[in-house]
Amino acid sequence: MKEIYNSFIDVIFPKYCLVCDNIIYGHEQYLCLKCEGGIPYGYYNLGTENPVEKTFWGRCKIDVAGAYMKYRSDSKYASLIKNIKYDGGVILANDLGNKYGKWLKSNHVIDDSFDCLVPIPMHPKKLKKRGYNQSEEIAKGLSYSLGIPIDINVLKRDIYAESQTKKNRFSRWENTRDLYALNELNHNYSHIVLVDDVITTGSTIESCVRAVHQFTDVKVSVLALGFTL
Ligand SMILES: [Zn+2]
Repeated sequence: MKEIYNSFIDVIFPKYCLVCDNIIYGHEQYLCLKCEGGIPYGYYNLGTENPVEKTFWGRCKIDVAGAYMKYRSDSKYASLIKNIKYDGGVILANDLGNKYGKWLKSNHVIDDSFDCLVPIPMHPKKLKKRGYNQSEEIAKGLSYSLGIPIDINVLKRDIYAESQTKKNRFSRWENTRDLYALNELNHNYSHIVLVDDVITTGSTIESCVRAVHQFTDVKVSVLALGFTL
């Protein structure tokens, strides 16, 4: 009965693949089978001097880093990340985070010293407008499959640094690294994992790691959904 009902729903409200726009069916969530099979996985096994880890060499101290997908803004798969950011894609963010966590677990590349997942904080104004922080939603999916708790209090956006940056537009680029600050760190933590949506220049992560290491030598690792090569 449920299947008949689902097919009925498919006819009345067809869903479309986020990547190719073809109609998808009940058992397919947001990608058709063909697009699901073609995801440009980035994996980059943790701790193997992969391209994600190399991005931070000489910039800040990262223990291990990895990303689920290779990301290019002109790739048809870019729509997955865009949907997470701009179309209220909470479920998509949860699901991709969960899938990445499952992959890490089944390939035994996850470090059991990870104490918590720390989503990159969003500017309060932006958070109010969007209604959710996509990094936190990705972290929820990762947390579900990895069984590692989320701590949203470790980092904060440094609003003061940001307003100073805006005042002096000539030093805007130099100051990107000061946009985050350490807020509250549980003393029991020895290894925290930053969670981001896409790593492009790496400056956001660099800013966060510097903010943390200014006050403590806790180990910092990074998990992201996308990585731009
Ligand atoms: Zn498709």
